[in-house]
Amino acid sequence: MQTLNQSLQATVLDLLRRRHPAICRAWFSELTVEDAHGGEITVVAANAAQLTYLLEHCRRPLVEAAQAATGRLVSVRFVLPDGSELSTDAGEDDDNRPSFEKDSSVFCIHGDYTFDQFVVGLCNRMAHASCMAVSESPGTVYNPLFIYGSVGLGKTHLLHAIWHKVLDRSPAARVMYLSSETFMNHFIEAMEKGALDSFRFRYRHVDVLMIDDVQFLSSCERTQDEFFHTFNTLYQAHKQIVLSGDRPPSEIVGLEDRLVSRFNSGLVLRIDPPCMETRLAIIRKKCRARQMEIPEDVAMYIATRLKSNARELEGALNRLHSMSTLDSRVIDMNLVRECLGQDSSEVRRQIRIQDIMGIVTDKFDVKLSDLQGRRRSRSIALPRQVCMYLARQFTSHSLEEIGGFFGGRDHTTVLHANRLVRERRNTDPTFQARLEDIEASLRQG
Ligand code: ADP
Ligand code: MG
Repeated sequence: MQTLNQSLQATVLDLLRRRHPAICRAWFSELTVEDAHGGEITVVAANAAQLTYLLEHCRRPLVEAAQAATGRLVSVRFVLPDGSELSTDAGEDDDNRPSFEKDSSVFCIHGDYTFDQFVVGLCNRMAHASCMAVSESPGTVYNPLFIYGSVGLGKTHLLHAIWHKVLDRSPAARVMYLSSETFMNHFIEAMEKGALDSFRFRYRHVDVLMIDDVQFLSSCERTQDEFFHTFNTLYQAHKQIVLSGDRPPSEIVGLEDRLVSRFNSGLVLRIDPPCMETRLAIIRKKCRARQMEIPEDVAMYIATRLKSNARELEGALNRLHSMSTLDSRVIDMNLVRECLGQDSSEVRRQIRIQDIMGIVTDKFDVKLSDLQGRRRSRSIALPRQVCMYLARQFTSHSLEEIGGFFGGRDHTTVLHANRLVRERRNTDPTFQARLEDIEASLRQG
């Protein structure tokens, strides 16, 4: 029985690594996969954090791998070593976290975005230290804390790391993380439903409030007004506020002066692009997490070619991993050159909406006229939402312009699309890899 189980375990994990390399983690080797009893396979995780990750990112791939390994239509149960399961409404069994903040999926918190997984270099030393300090004693040291820097430099990673650390230290703390767009959507929804009281109660009774990408608040006056009052209530109660943006508060066009001055009243810190050493360290760390071995010259090559941010490094590693597992090739200089393209020396291009549509029609196999048309079928809606998301990330067009371009839609449709894509990106690693591939193609032209 023991050997049967061991070989089942090896087969399931092997299938998973080959078919879904991006979701695999080094600690998968600590999992136990137990044989079917009455058509059921049990996967035992070492702790609640691992179990949460499996439930959020690996449920379907693991079921498919278990079915392929046994040749039967088995179901899969995910448990802790004592046989208990994580209940989503009652929260994590091991720490009695109240339902408010237990469910990391409510806030789309990424299980890997912890301080342990963050590489500290000259570029982000201060931001990292201040986030650590804030998670150790929220509301007392730097309030508010405002971290800014361009895309892919680790702002979201640091905010999620605060979430993990505050809750590790005090499981009962009420920690809320959301993007400014989610805040805005909740606010609009609350207004429409006449539920402003409960909206205010929800946002004004937290110990730590983190709002990511506040630059997106810029064009929304009523939301800014609401946020101003939320901010004041929390601040006066000595609750911690952490914000991130793509530029310092005073440079965010359309952000009201009173918010700019509130944001500036705490600590404002910049994250710079990573230097060579930091890029190499990030590559090594991400490889270790994926149990991916890459030779030193390959790591050097990637770190030399991709200089602007960590997200690009991660995208390159994902593509490299997929190419090597799908085609059973060793990771060497030939493969990495192929993967990054021969000689496109990282020129920063001006990306246009037309470039985005060109790549999306190609990768999703849809027609241009569909993207700009009125049809709402799922097969068209997703690529159209991806286009809107990318246009928001890479171009400076307004929400109205983007909506208008894609079939005369209004700005709320663009916000909705943006939120859906971001949430899916945070929770679905296969989709994340697909988006990164598209983003890399966009940058490389
Ligand atoms: P931002 O929010 O600034 O656009 P993210 O936090 O989303 O960037 O980071 C993009 C990716 O790069 C994430 O996968 C994140 O884990 C990774 N990353 C960024 N900076 C670091 C770092 N210093 N150490 C490890 N990973 C990093
Ligand atoms: Mg971010």
